[in-house]
Amino acid sequence: MMIDCTAKELELLKIIGDCAQRLNLPCYLVGGFVRDKLLQRNCKDLDFVCVGDGILLAQEVARQFKPQPQVSIFKTFGTANIKHGEFEIEFVGARKESYAAHSRKPEVEPGTLEDDQKRRDFTINALAISLNKNDFGQLLDPFNGVEDLKLKIIRTPLEPGTTFSDDPLRMMRAIRFASQLDFTILPETWLGIIENAHRIHIISKERIADELNKIVLSKKPSVGFDLLYKSGLLKLFFPQMVALAGAEYIDGKGHKDNFYHTLKVLDNISENTDDLWLRWAAILHDIAKPATKRFEEGHGWTFHGHEVVGGRMVPKIFAQLKLPANEKMKFVRKMVELHLRPISLTKENITDSAIRRLLFDAGEDFDALMTLCNADITSKNQQKVQRYLQNFEMVRQRCKEVEDNDHIRNWQPPITGELIMQTFNVPPSKIVGDLKTAIKDAILDGDIENSYEAAYQFMLQKAKEVNLVPVG
Ligand code: ATP
Repeated sequence: MMIDCTAKELELLKIIGDCAQRLNLPCYLVGGFVRDKLLQRNCKDLDFVCVGDGILLAQEVARQFKPQPQVSIFKTFGTANIKHGEFEIEFVGARKESYAAHSRKPEVEPGTLEDDQKRRDFTINALAISLNKNDFGQLLDPFNGVEDLKLKIIRTPLEPGTTFSDDPLRMMRAIRFASQLDFTILPETWLGIIENAHRIHIISKERIADELNKIVLSKKPSVGFDLLYKSGLLKLFFPQMVALAGAEYIDGKGHKDNFYHTLKVLDNISENTDDLWLRWAAILHDIAKPATKRFEEGHGWTFHGHEVVGGRMVPKIFAQLKLPANEKMKFVRKMVELHLRPISLTKENITDSAIRRLLFDAGEDFDALMTLCNADITSKNQQKVQRYLQNFEMVRQRCKEVEDNDHIRNWQPPITGELIMQTFNVPPSKIVGDLKTAIKDAILDGDIENSYEAAYQFMLQKAKEVNLVPVG
């Protein structure tokens, strides 16, 4: 065997090899699994190509397992999947492909293993391992993929222009692999991407988002984003991020390049979290800087309100990129809106009330917010960085003290809107909201005690001021 397999994997390969032999179908392990094994990366997705009917082979393989797994068949694609323990196994018949200009769906006809290897996107993804009796375990590498793995290069097996024009998703995949594996895209291949970037419009937003999220989750996501930017792809599906790039100068005063600042924040946060959505918060935290940028005489560049405007941009950008419109989106919006708050608390004379408000607004996401704020420190001046970090440590400490006393983080104000409506027999209306806010503010400001009784008395008193009397 020319790749290092576990005993379990080897047993699986032998079973599949035997089935293929019985059906007289030459069979090969191909693609990502072979690549990842050679890179000593973990992989549980196994793809098999056989010269003949892949669905037939999948059914024969499924019969060998107990309990017998379901075979999911995709007739139009000629593929079949089995889930076996921790493994996702896919079978397909070897094929030859040709493309029409308007679509990334190729014309497909049966082919040889070589035809099948040629249709694969990169040399490192075109490696095959034979499962046939005469050369079991032999590596078949027609495009020197192993060499490219060693050199850490992304290269298309065929002419790059055609490869990317045929299926523009491959441009996203090239950049994703470069980012995930820390590989370099070969100059010729890179040129193919630049020349075909405009073709990305035939790819569905969902497929783009899948690749984009893999870039976001890579160890150093700036690698992928920088390539997306330089290739011209990013502006085609995420122009708001490209708008962050560059710096304007007036009277010799410039501001920082917010695109590269954002990438630095993203890399910083990626050292501390694998949470996709917190990483998205880093990507979007300054997204409204171009929209809020002003030059103030004698003062320089300002971006007042960029956190609020940025928060409002989050749902729009999520919809545009086909990211989910759910709790995750709300979390990202909240992070963007709050990202300046801890910084504002590093000044002197910060009241307990301000600290309580931050704890209340951040709630269970307080730690995530502090992680984002730490990542937002990108100064090259180490002394400054140390000073900022110390300031944050102080804010954290203050928050801990106030939290230990007041338990604000997971706190809900003791008087609900429901209770207000019942007490005064009023319908849902502005006054209900005003009373609720007044009670919450009084507690957060420390004017009244954080208890039901104190809040109830306060409510009666406030209501009286607007001539509301309790019923009964
Ligand atoms: P990962 O598991 O990280 O997504 P992968 O390479 O295994 O990486 P899959 O999408 O599972 O990705 O694809 C399996 C194999 O199919 C690839 O290794 C490649 O050989 C081939 N392949 C996938 N997508 C394409 C494509 N758009 N064009 C050409 N070949 C592709």
